[in-house]
Formats: sequence, structure tokens, C-alpha cells
Amino acid sequence: MDCIFCKIAAGEIPSNKVFEDDQVLAFYDLDPQAPVHFLVIPKEHISGADQITAENSGVVAHIFEVIAKVTAELGLTGGFRVVTNCGEDGGQTVGHLHFHVLGRRSLAWPPG
Ligand code: 5GP
Ligand code: ZN
Repeated sequence: MDCIFCKIAAGEIPSNKVFEDDQVLAFYDLDPQAPVHFLVIPKEHISGADQITAENSGVVAHIFEVIAKVTAELGLTGGFRVVTNCGEDGGQTVGHLHFHVLGRRSLAWPPG
């Protein structure tokens, strides 16, 4: 399968890593939308938030544990935002589940 985030997870494409374990990888976004902008992905290929099931949702819980740990380590005490874009209407451009973590600037709500 030709999936760029599977290749990043496998180390075939380099990334600027923030955190890695056997289940997940966190790495800085190539095109940051905030002073801190990294992505957290499951190493297992899940195409998007619409493909989360009872069988694979454990890794999503783990991703949120990793987000809490990494944001604390990066000192994002003022808060941060977690976003997952899903499908065309959601603005998803890479078909491998990923959570954007944005911080160190004030973010508008609702998003555009
Ligand atoms: P989406 O638009 O699917 O929500 O988010 C995809 C994100 O992946 C974008 O913010 C884009 O900048 C980032 N991205 C795409 N290709 C690469 C890559 O090869 N390396 C990194 N670090 N980020 C990427
Ligand atoms: Zn993939």
C-alpha cells in the first residue's frame, strides 16, 4: 500500500520525531500551523476516524495518553488543540489516521 504515514512509521521516510513506542509515532508537521504542531499516528494503518472500531480503538486511547505526556513535556501549560480531519468535507489529505496537536498560540473557535 502506498501510504506516506505507513512509510514514516516504518522509518522509510524520515521525520522529526517527538515520541515513539511500539504502537504510535509522534512527529512534527512539515507545514506547521502553530509554533508547536505535531502529528500522532498509530503505526497500524487505519485510514481515518471513520474506521475506528471496537477492535482497533485501544490505540486511540493510547494516542491520547501520549498527547497528554508529550504536551506536558513540551510545556504547553497554556493549553493546546487536538484535531483529526476526516474525509473530504473534513479536509483530510493523508489517508492514515492522525491527530494534529497545535499549541503555543491562541486558536480561533469555531474553525473556518
Ligand atoms: P490532513 O490534511 O490530512 O489533516 O493532515 C495531513 C498533514 O500531514 C498536513 O498538515 C501536512 O502538512 C502533513 N504532512 C504531509 N506529508 C508529510 C510528510 O511527509 N512529513 C510530515 N512531517 N508531515 C507531512
Ligand atoms: Zn498508512
